[in-house]
Amino acid sequence: MNLHKRTRELAAVEPSDTPFLSLYLNTRGTESGKRQYDTFLKNRLIFFQKEFADSGEKEKSFQKSWRQIARYLEQGLERQSNGVALFCRSQPDNDFFLTLQFPLPLENRFVVDSVPHIFPMVHFLDNSHHYMVMISDSEKAKIFEIQFGGIKDIQQIEKPEDEKSFRGEWTQMHYQNWKKHQTKKFIKQKIRTLADLMQRNGVGHLILAGDDVMVAQIKKELPKWLQEMVVDFTRLDARIDEHQILRQTLETFADFEQAEDIDTLMSLRRELLIDGLGVMGTERTVEALNSGKIDQLIAATEYEAPLGWRCESCDLLGVGATGERCQYCGQGSLNEVNLKEEIARRTLLSGASVETIVHNVWFMRQGGVGALLRYK
Ligand SMILES: [Zn+2]
Repeated sequence: MNLHKRTRELAAVEPSDTPFLSLYLNTRGTESGKRQYDTFLKNRLIFFQKEFADSGEKEKSFQKSWRQIARYLEQGLERQSNGVALFCRSQPDNDFFLTLQFPLPLENRFVVDSVPHIFPMVHFLDNSHHYMVMISDSEKAKIFEIQFGGIKDIQQIEKPEDEKSFRGEWTQMHYQNWKKHQTKKFIKQKIRTLADLMQRNGVGHLILAGDDVMVAQIKKELPKWLQEMVVDFTRLDARIDEHQILRQTLETFADFEQAEDIDTLMSLRRELLIDGLGVMGTERTVEALNSGKIDQLIAATEYEAPLGWRCESCDLLGVGATGERCQYCGQGSLNEVNLKEEIARRTLLSGASVETIVHNVWFMRQGGVGALLRYK
């Protein structure tokens, strides 16, 4: 399942007056057999039931959504999952219901709004250590998809049998040429399989492993887009077991992610110093978002947005309390929005990416949100 694609689908849900329920849970079991989330869920439910009491259609929709979710939590959880995200909106003509289960726990969160709340999901995926490892020698290749600290999938590619043997009557030169050709052909086959898996599963990072010669040959043949996703070239014996591969590459990948966070912040800082393609703080980020300039949104996980609104006439976002008139078009009624969610949602919708930063003092002091821009 391509989780990034699912997140973009959630970002594309149109806002409406019908309550949209987003629920994230840590479903890891407790010793007594009682789920840890029971008390949390009960308290939130009491709050929402009071909130929607006597609201007519809204209350009806909320109750229907809640029944779907409760049923799913009773019957749908898989034994090996420790986290679940549920998104639900019940309408008379079409229901939206999406469930995602994860091997790692999610922080409990239950919100009802006009759109799905996706920021926790974006952050979770951004820190899920999702990458591919291709380990290969001249006879075979193994491709591992790794996410949430475990191996999700393994694909094996063997060199076709009839191409391994050489026909005796050839001259030495013939043989060398033929062998070179076969090797190149096999490398191309590996790359095709790898590229296909990465695209299908939405994986953006790659570790190439194996002996030096093979890794160098593969590196040379990679298409440019795939080259840009290479995190590291690691010298590993193709015969080592899966646990070793997992352990070794997880360390490499964690270092890479940390370095990438710092790189992102450095680029942003550089752009800010020369007043170039970077903005910082909620107001300027919202401004850049309104004019479609954002290439990459950078948000701290601890970032808390101020009050914000969306204009019903021009659809632009603004910072502050909902005043009487829109500061852009001068008319329309303003709807209060959760600005943090709305910024992440619109960034994804525009096709730009979101990078979340875990605890960085400089970044938080500057407002905890910013963006790299496509143009000024
Ligand atoms: Zn407006």
